[in-house]
Amino acid sequence: MSTLSIVATPIGNLEDITLRALRTLKECDVIYAEDTRVISKLLAKYEVKKSVQRLDAATEIKKADEIIARLEAGEHVAFVSDAGTPGISDPGARLVSYARDQISRRDLDIKIEAIPGASALTTALSISGMEEVFTFLGFLPHKKGRQTALKKMSESEYATVLYESPHRIIKLLQELEALNASKIIIARELTKIHEEVISGTPTEILEHFSNHEDTIRGEFVVIVSF
Ligand code: SAM
Repeated sequence: MSTLSIVATPIGNLEDITLRALRTLKECDVIYAEDTRVISKLLAKYEVKKSVQRLDAATEIKKADEIIARLEAGEHVAFVSDAGTPGISDPGARLVSYARDQISRRDLDIKIEAIPGASALTTALSISGMEEVFTFLGFLPHKKGRQTALKKMSESEYATVLYESPHRIIKLLQELEALNASKIIIARELTKIHEEVISGTPTEILEHFSNHEDTIRGEFVVIVSF
């Protein structure tokens, strides 16, 4: 039986990788990565010398056939996204879904295994102190469907967890202010030097960012309650 390993990688601090992930990256025949330059830094740190191929969102389906052919030939293939757990707001889900479909249709002797590890979602929740049940939406749509998603969030009895980039965080906070969100927790730069968690009303958080413009940089997990 050959194996497709879906491997979680760090979300900032390169030490956040499991022993099993490192062993898998060392033992596999080939690594497919969302961005070959990003994984190269990790491989260099742990002295893993391995052939790396690119598989990003645009090439996911095209490369899936290539990966299935390798697995059928008995190779062990690992897939990593840029950061965290593949398939969580990252490429990987379509590859896995296509591979599962091929395995069941053609009765292929291929195992798909998870090598779990970091994710911004679980990392943020672990230091947020949030006790509520939550819904995870990842990135909101930029245009079509955005207002509907925001409205649904505002009507939900659950807290919502979002991913957001530094370019759009202020716009998101303004939208949440307009919808009268009662509480927001922002986890920023997780596992990095400037890791911080800020909480308050949308207005308080907007004020915080207007006083600390440097903190608008970085990556954000936003937890919203209405
Ligand atoms: N697959 C990743 C995971 O498992 O969390 C998510 C990838 S998604 C393309 C990138 C988004 O995740 C960022 O825009 C940000 O919202 C969040 N993120 C990733 N790393 C982060 C970090 N170190 N601190 C805060 N948020 C982070």
